[in-house]
Amino acid sequence: MNRSHQLFTHAQQHIPGGVNSPVRAFRSVEGDPVFIDRAKGAYVWDVDGKRYIDYVGSWGPAILGHAHPEVVEAVQKQAEKGLSYGAPTELEVEMADLICELIPSVDMVRMVNSGTEATMTAIRLARGATGRDRIVKFEGGYHGHSDSLLVKAGSGALTHGVPSSPGVPKCLAEQTLTLTYNDAEQVRNVFDEVGDEIACIIVEPVAGNMNCIPPVPGFLETLRQVCDAHGAILIFDEVMTGFRVGLTGAQGRYGITPDLTTFGKVIGGGMPVGALGGKREIMSQLAPTGPVYQAGTLSGNPLAMAAGLTTLKRISQPGFFEDLEAKTQKLAMGLEQVAHEEGIALTTNQVGGMFGFFFTAEAPITRFEQVVRSDIEHFKRFFHMMLDEGIYLAPSAFEAGFVSAAHTDEDLEATLAAARRCFQAFEN
Ligand code: PLP
Repeated sequence: MNRSHQLFTHAQQHIPGGVNSPVRAFRSVEGDPVFIDRAKGAYVWDVDGKRYIDYVGSWGPAILGHAHPEVVEAVQKQAEKGLSYGAPTELEVEMADLICELIPSVDMVRMVNSGTEATMTAIRLARGATGRDRIVKFEGGYHGHSDSLLVKAGSGALTHGVPSSPGVPKCLAEQTLTLTYNDAEQVRNVFDEVGDEIACIIVEPVAGNMNCIPPVPGFLETLRQVCDAHGAILIFDEVMTGFRVGLTGAQGRYGITPDLTTFGKVIGGGMPVGALGGKREIMSQLAPTGPVYQAGTLSGNPLAMAAGLTTLKRISQPGFFEDLEAKTQKLAMGLEQVAHEEGIALTTNQVGGMFGFFFTAEAPITRFEQVVRSDIEHFKRFFHMMLDEGIYLAPSAFEAGFVSAAHTDEDLEATLAAARRCFQAFEN
């Protein structure tokens, strides 16, 4: 019996499901999760000493690779000066200046502790600023676990949203309309009917929680147009895509300017961080300048700021994203090619440093329903075979994968060689 199995059994005594975030329990791929002992660069090692090439990257933050020496040094130096003060610091000012410099749509920014806090606050701010209660999100999009955002579609776009978790008040879920990602016509129709009641649209500009699905041409443009026409606020949830699909995020990549943006993951460099930012007139409605309340004991935590700032400075260096994109493309295109050579139906998507693969002959993949139709059993089998091969992929067919600057050509080639062996074994 290995140590991961022992720990998982033990963990379940005092931690619900043995994990502190559900996807880590491997429920959708079955089997025991791997317990991690340490990580460095492109690799993680489990508690049994096995090394894996890691394409989860802590679900996105590890864009420089794990435990980058400069990030670790910045955190260590700050730790000596104190872990948290609950009072303002120069580091927070530097962080705010840098985010505003890198992302032109952001005039002001508020640091929080997670992506969930960022989106929850963005929604409250949008409701406060517009005086409206209804919000629009998209099926298959994930924006953290606050009540208004844990809602799925009713039987039609305009029916009341239904809570996707017990504990979410029905009366709140009813204020959330869940539409189809990449269906611009549906968005226009809904806004024609009830646009003047809608506070905001929140969207992952590249969907990364239904695997990886880029926006089709015209989709994000339509969101901008309907928000402008109806006085609604456009929120880009760039918790995943921010500083991941390019230095200016998805908004820079696709040339669409949102009113508010949420960040997380990369901006914390591996520490617990989120942020929301946007237009000055909206952001200044947050307390203490405005009436919309938000606060946090550990917000702007100095260790997190030190890790995040060091990460943002590194990824701002010329050529960083070209290199990251080339690696990610090599992986995604390589996977597709190897699969086809071995007679396996596989389609991939890739944007910047994120990628997705789908066991299906359908291409391109632009809709959530296509992901649902893909062969999930094939995915499960492939996931476990790759894990045995020492390749750590996201343990769900509905998650994007992440490449870091630390992944070398040899790592990518080793991954493709492992994938080929797995595809060959599929026949049997
Ligand atoms: N928004 C998006 C797009 C995300 O991918 C996530 C997490 O994966 C969140 C929000 C929630 O962030 P957190 O897990 O830090 O609360």
